[in-house]
Amino acid sequence: MNASTVDRRIRALRPPKNAVDPYRAHGSVVEDERRPDGRLERAVTVFLAGAECPFTCSFCDLWRTTIEGPTPAGALVEQVEGVLATLGDISCERLKLYNSSNFFDKRAVPAEDVPAIAALAAPFGAVTVESHANTIGPTALDFAAQISGRLEVAVGLETIHPAAAAQLNKRLDLARFDRAARFLLDNDIDLRVFVLLGTPHIPVHESVLWTVRTVEYAADRGASVISIIPVRGGNGEIERLQARGDFTPPTLLQLEQALDRCAHIRSSVVTADLWDVERLPACEHCRAARVERIRRFNLTGRTEPSIACDAIHGNVDISALAAVASHHA
Ligand code: SF4
Ligand SMILES: [Zn+2]
Repeated sequence: MNASTVDRRIRALRPPKNAVDPYRAHGSVVEDERRPDGRLERAVTVFLAGAECPFTCSFCDLWRTTIEGPTPAGALVEQVEGVLATLGDISCERLKLYNSSNFFDKRAVPAEDVPAIAALAAPFGAVTVESHANTIGPTALDFAAQISGRLEVAVGLETIHPAAAAQLNKRLDLARFDRAARFLLDNDIDLRVFVLLGTPHIPVHESVLWTVRTVEYAADRGASVISIIPVRGGNGEIERLQARGDFTPPTLLQLEQALDRCAHIRSSVVTADLWDVERLPACEHCRAARVERIRRFNLTGRTEPSIACDAIHGNVDISALAAVASHHA
């Protein structure tokens, strides 16, 4: 893919990448996740270090943990082996391989490594990988055929707000997403979807609404799991957009509201991504209680009574939240 002017502008604003070792995963986590049948499933996520994604989405900071150039052959196998060796007696049903890029891009995942990765995945009943909708095709079917468990592909839908989606520089239109979703489901592969909260170019008072609409859209297209991800600053471009008034950092309260408004969806598991949740603006009086309420919702899918707080943020005055947070700090 040739870099466009927009790509070059976004890349020019980036701070340096983290130092990553291509032979060592840059992280891993074991956690329980709810599945559409209500069952809790233990999953290990391996955060793989490899080649950078060729897309240049305006909100993305995953490139920080990628390397320059293609992933060396054999490196991902070593990374997965390294993490699995640390599990000891912990038994996980799902292996999530997140490579900060597209698993079906041969530059990111060398074709010669795929059989060894599939062999390492053999003890797991299910495997999740991530991919841009545009790179979902026959390679996904090949991988599904090689693993013994069930394949799930995680795809960023981000937002269905037409004007905002066009500004993300993701090169994804809804028709392409729909085709990818249909292709996966037709081939008995599960679909996981990432949806943004705080998408740039969506007015702040419509932010939660569009997140909920996008979650509903993904649920209608058969997603098993939909994860709401708050947009975070730090990649340079987001700061540029914020300075222009085109981005407002999403708050913890908005994340909770979005999740509450998705509670009616029963066909898909809808969760809030709590990675880096401490960075979300919030009232310090009720922050911890709200995070725990969200954590419980992620596991049970059951809404609970809203959290009472003496601070004035209530359910509406999101823009006052930063002031409330500092007032109570
Ligand atoms: S497709 Fe995914 S990994 Fe690639 S730039 Fe966009 S958000 Fe980042
Ligand atoms: Zn509060």
